[in-house]
Amino acid sequence: MPGVTIMISDTHEKVKAAHLRRNAYLYIRQSTLRQVFEKSESTKRQYALRQKAVALGWPEDRIIVIDTDLGQSGASAADREGFQRLVTEVSLGRAGIVLGLEVSRLARNSTDWHRLLEICALTEALILDEDGVYDPAHFNDRLLLGLKGTMSEAELHVLRARLQGGILNKARRGELMIRPPIGLIYNAEGKLVLDPDKQVQGALRLLFDTFRRTGSAMATVRSFQRQSLLFPRRVHTGPQKGDLVWGVLGLSQVLRILHNPRYAGAFAYGRSHTRKTVDGGFEIIRVPKEEWETLIPGAHAGYVSWEDYEQNQRQLHVSAQAMGSDRRKSPAREGPALLQGLILCGRCGERMTVRYHSRQGRLCPEYVCQRDGIEHAKPVCQRIPGAGIDRAMGELLVDAVSPVALEVALSVQQELQCRIEEADRLRQKQVERAQYEVDLARRRYMRVDPDNRLVADSLEAEWNGKLRTLSETQQERERQREQDRKILSEPQQAAILALSTNFPALWRDPSTPDRERKRMTRLLLEDITVLREEQITLHVRFKGGATRTLTLPLPLNSWQQRQTSPDVVKEIDQLLDQHTYPQIADILNERGMRSGESKAFTSRIIARIQRSYALMPRYDRLRKAGMLTLKEMAALLGICPQQVKIWDRHGLIHGHAYNDKNDRLHEHPGANPPRKAQGVKLSQRSVTRVVSQRIEEVQCEA
Ligand SMILES: [Zn+2]
Repeated sequence: MPGVTIMISDTHEKVKAAHLRRNAYLYIRQSTLRQVFEKSESTKRQYALRQKAVALGWPEDRIIVIDTDLGQSGASAADREGFQRLVTEVSLGRAGIVLGLEVSRLARNSTDWHRLLEICALTEALILDEDGVYDPAHFNDRLLLGLKGTMSEAELHVLRARLQGGILNKARRGELMIRPPIGLIYNAEGKLVLDPDKQVQGALRLLFDTFRRTGSAMATVRSFQRQSLLFPRRVHTGPQKGDLVWGVLGLSQVLRILHNPRYAGAFAYGRSHTRKTVDGGFEIIRVPKEEWETLIPGAHAGYVSWEDYEQNQRQLHVSAQAMGSDRRKSPAREGPALLQGLILCGRCGERMTVRYHSRQGRLCPEYVCQRDGIEHAKPVCQRIPGAGIDRAMGELLVDAVSPVALEVALSVQQELQCRIEEADRLRQKQVERAQYEVDLARRRYMRVDPDNRLVADSLEAEWNGKLRTLSETQQERERQREQDRKILSEPQQAAILALSTNFPALWRDPSTPDRERKRMTRLLLEDITVLREEQITLHVRFKGGATRTLTLPLPLNSWQQRQTSPDVVKEIDQLLDQHTYPQIADILNERGMRSGESKAFTSRIIARIQRSYALMPRYDRLRKAGMLTLKEMAALLGICPQQVKIWDRHGLIHGHAYNDKNDRLHEHPGANPPRKAQGVKLSQRSVTRVVSQRIEEVQCEA
C-alpha cells in the first residue's frame, strides 16, 4: 500500500520532543477468553509494537501496558476498565502516543472511537499501529483514522449479517444442522433419523400414544409415574456430554416434545427468537407458527404424522383453554359443568367456555361462546344456562348407554391389556440394557491385568454396581408385572363390566363426584353443538359416530326460577283452613319442602305467598265457617270479653287462632251455651279438656 510507506516515511516529522517527554500507552485487548488462549500469536504482535515505540525514541520504562480488558468484548466501552483508563490518561495529557494493534479496533463502537480521537487531537497525542503513526490533529490522518473506525464497525455488522444470512439460507433449504431433540439423531450421511436405540424409540412412542389416549400432557406424566417408567435425556454439557441419561418424565418435557414439529418429521426454524431486555439479559419470545422462518413438513423421519402433530397442537390448545375457564370461578376440575370442554357454539362453531354463577350457595354453570369475542373485542356470541342442558344430557346418557355398555367395557379392557404389554416391553428393554452394561463391565474387569490392583479394584466395583442395577431393574419389572396382573384380575374385570352395565345407577348416585361424571361423559361423547333460538337445540355426537338431537325449552329467567312451586301454593291453601302462618311454616319444613329461593319457610314467607297468590286469609275462612268474634261471643253469652277468653282457655267454648298473636275466632256455642255458675271452680266445669295447669280463680261479675 503506497499510503503506508508515505506514513512510515514521515514518521519522524510527527514524533516531536514534546511527545517523547510524555508516556507511551500500549493498549492490548482480546475479545474473548478463548481468543486469549488460542490467538497468542496476535498477543505477540501487540507486544512487538512496544519495540516500535522504543525505536521511535520512547525509553522502555515509559511504555505503559494496559491489558486489563483481556477477555472483554469490544462492543461497548462501558464496562471495559482498561479502555476507560486509557481515555483518562490521554485526556490528562500524560500520553505522547497511544499504541495498539490495528488501532481502529481500539474501540469498535464508533462513539468510543471518535471520543478517543477527539481527546488525542486536543492533547496532541499520537497514535501508532502496525501501519504507521497518525497525528489526529492533522486533517489527513484524522480522515484516515475515522474511515478505519467506520470500516471496522461495518465489518462487525457485515460479519454478523453474513453469519446470520448463512444460517438463514441453510435453514430455508432445511439443511441447517440443529441439535436434534431426544429420539432423533444425525446418521453418518448427515440425515436426521430415528435414534436406533429401541428403548429410546419405545419411550417416545409410548409418550405420543399416551397423549393420544388421554389428551392431556399432565395425564401423560402421571401415567409414566404410575408405571415407574423412565424417560431418556441427552446430556449436552459437561464431561458426560453426549451420554444418555434416564430420568423421571416432567410436564415441561412432555410439552416441549409435543410442541416440537421435528417429531413429525418437519424441519422448522425460527420458532422463537431472543430479545435483549433493559437490564442487559435476554428473553425468549415464542413465535406463532404462521411467522416461523422456515417450516418444511416431511423433511426427515419422525414419530408422528404431520396431521397428528397438528391434532396434538389443537388438543393442547383446547385443554389449556378449558382449564383456564374452568379455573376462573371454581376449584380446578371439581366444577360441576358436565359438558365443559365438549360443547360447541352452533352459531360460529367455536368451543364454548364455562362460567359459574353462585346461586344460593350452589354453583350454576353457564356455557358462553366468547372466544371470538375476546379475540376481536366483540360481544358474547351465545350464552346458555347450563343446568338444564346438563340435566338433559345426563338423562340422554343414562338412556343411551345401556346398548353400548358392553362395547365400551370391552374396548376399555383391550386397551388396558395393550398398555400393560407395551409398558412391560419397555421395562424388558430396561432390563436388557442393564444386562448389557453388566456384561460390558465384566469384560472390562476380565481384560485388566490382575496385578494392576488399583484398576482391577475399581473395575470390580463398577461391575458390582452394574449387577446391583440389573437386579433392581429386574425386581422393579417383576413388581410392576405383579401389579399389572392385579389390574387385570378376574374381580377387576368384573368391576369394569359392572361399571359399564351399572352406568345409570352410578350416574344417579349422589355420592359420585362431578369429576367422575365429567370423565364418563368424555368417554362417551365426542361433542355437543348448541343453538339457542326459540328453544335450545342440542346436536349430540357420540364417540363412534352415533348422533342425537334434543330440543329443550328456554330456561326460566331468574325471577321465574325463584317462584314457589304450584304444589307448595296448593298445600298452603289447604293448610290455611286449619293452621296459622307459623304452624304452616313448621309443617312444610317438617315435610322437607323449600321455598322458591330454596330457603326454609317462615311465617313471613307464608304470609307473602298468601298475599301474592291471593289465597283467602285465614280470618275470612273462619268467618265464612260461621265463627264469632270476641265481641259477638261476649254479647251472645252475656259475659265480658275477658271472660270469653278465660272460658276459651278452659275449653268451655272452642276458639281458633287466626294470626300468630293468638287472636281468635270462636265456634258458635250451639243451642245450649255455657252459663255463668258462681262458686263452681272452672277446673271442675271443664269436662272435655284442661288447657292450662294453672287454676284460674279469677271471677268476673257480669
Ligand atoms: Zn359462537
